[in-house]
Amino acid sequence: MIYSPRMKTSFILFVAVSSLLNTARAADSKNVGYSDTPIIPGQKWHVHDGERPAPRVVQTGESFSHMAPPPSDAIVLFDGKDLSKWVRSGGGAAAWKLENGYMQVAEKSGSIQTKDRFGDFQLHLEFATPAKVDGNSQGRGNSGVLMNGTYEVQVLDSYQNPTYPDGQCGAIYGQSPPLVNASKPPGVWQSYDIIWENPRWDENGKVIKKANVTVIHNGVILHHRKEYQGNTPHKENGNYNNPHPSTAFIQLQDHNNPMRFRNVWLRLLGEYDKP
Ligand code: MG
Repeated sequence: MIYSPRMKTSFILFVAVSSLLNTARAADSKNVGYSDTPIIPGQKWHVHDGERPAPRVVQTGESFSHMAPPPSDAIVLFDGKDLSKWVRSGGGAAAWKLENGYMQVAEKSGSIQTKDRFGDFQLHLEFATPAKVDGNSQGRGNSGVLMNGTYEVQVLDSYQNPTYPDGQCGAIYGQSPPLVNASKPPGVWQSYDIIWENPRWDENGKVIKKANVTVIHNGVILHHRKEYQGNTPHKENGNYNNPHPSTAFIQLQDHNNPMRFRNVWLRLLGEYDKP
């Protein structure tokens, strides 16, 4: 067969168009992410990088910690009876729904936070994403545990729900995906055990100890003393430009999804040889 110049041009066009279509299809199958965000310092990924590998999925066992009574020296933050330890972030009373021993994000009720601030601590809480799946990626079962309202451990329905890995359940938002995906299906109660160390600054406002966190999700470790690069904004790198006391309140995020929380308590870490 002899190719005319016109056939050659058509062939080249055909190849170009089909390779473009294939690229578009490949992009569809990847995690949803952003490409217009800065590189994360010290990493090869940018903030909310959809190309970043998704953590592998781990099937967790029945968690022993569900609804276990708190230890005797715990500060109980929510025992299912009232919201007396919480206020609305930005002012006012906490207006989340209270029912059947859990609290649930009510429409337009805003994030809530503890009235008190705490030094370094061990926090236990349980959460459930909505049983009825609605939305996808960041729009599905989104909430968060934010130390001092600024350092987020992401809460998301990450059960068969692709999103950018630094925004999936258990991520240090915009910085570090969890080591694995230990999420349970929608509507099933899950546990977080979070060990938190506050950041410290010197008298000149220079950070001398970065915040770090250990996160255990449904009995499986997601982070071990992982440092925060600073606060956890959307689509930006965090920083330590705003010094605060070496204590933190705990905020639970209203991200427009009817998320549920129960059995919330913490223990202060204390110090060795100081009973
Ligand atoms: Mg969130």
